[in-house]
Amino acid sequence: LERTIAELEEGYGAAAFSSGMAAITAVAGLLSSGDSILLSDDLYGGTYRLFTAYFSRYGVICHYADASDSEKFLTKAKLIGCKALFIESPTNPLMKIADIRAIAKGAKEIGSLLIVDNTLMSPVLQKPITLGADIVVHSGTKFLSGHNDVVCGFVISATKELSDKINWIQNASGAILGPMDSWLVIRGLKTLGLRIERSQSNARIIAENLKKHPHVKEVLYPGSGALLSFRVTKAERIPQILSSFGLFSFAESLGGVESLVTYPWTQTHADIPEDVRRSVGVTEDLLRVSVGIEDIDDLIADLNRAIGADIGFQI
Ligand code: PLP
Repeated sequence: LERTIAELEEGYGAAAFSSGMAAITAVAGLLSSGDSILLSDDLYGGTYRLFTAYFSRYGVICHYADASDSEKFLTKAKLIGCKALFIESPTNPLMKIADIRAIAKGAKEIGSLLIVDNTLMSPVLQKPITLGADIVVHSGTKFLSGHNDVVCGFVISATKELSDKINWIQNASGAILGPMDSWLVIRGLKTLGLRIERSQSNARIIAENLKKHPHVKEVLYPGSGALLSFRVTKAERIPQILSSFGLFSFAESLGGVESLVTYPWTQTHADIPEDVRRSVGVTEDLLRVSVGIEDIDDLIADLNRAIGADIGFQI
């Protein structure tokens, strides 16, 4: 499994972990007390919590900036004197794109490691190491396994030196992936390309439909991938919308064959302080959708029914 993941991401080596968070924890283990790290400001809430509330206790200094503006991001990194940069692209849930190639080039110039969480794109759509990243992390719980039946994570390193360090941390810290789960991921990987193709084509159609919906004021979709977010016109209707879905499940994950709808405000991003959430645009009117491989007509009918439930909006 580790060899396959390394090949898919075109890295030197990969290490499998018992969760995405365990994989990110292992990467954070490359830092020492007093080191600074600059992270994207629109980040998975669990990653924010891990760095800000946990690793800061061990002296790691965490800074945040908008990685979709590479120049500003790199200027801040230079000022701080960062040991590492950690980005997601697209970001979750605001779907902002970072220029990985430009950030990788800038990171090299200042001697900083570039770590990219590639969970949302998968190596089918984006291979950060080929763009200059040093390390890629994945919550393999999502697209790589693909069926919402495994929790796992991966660290892929660009060089032997980094790969050896991660393997040492993996062995020393022990959050390895068991054999049954490893087998499930290998099985899931066999359909990765097909699943991404279908989910992406469904997501593109859904994004176009949502743009025309009278109860939707903004659609955030980067044009590729299976994840999109949208803002509804009336945030107070969200509980009713969430309870009206039939085919979409209201659940806190992504990247599986089933379509899921998430409310970042109370779920994935609840651990980020309210003022920080608001300042980056994670507000009460925002819903995130992970589009699965179901029939597109069924998905659109379900979305229209849920979003327009109280006014009987028809397709
Ligand atoms: N990275 C991203 C982008 C995620 O969305 C998640 C989980 O939702 C994680 C990391 C953490 O992964 P896990 O749930 O496998 O620990």
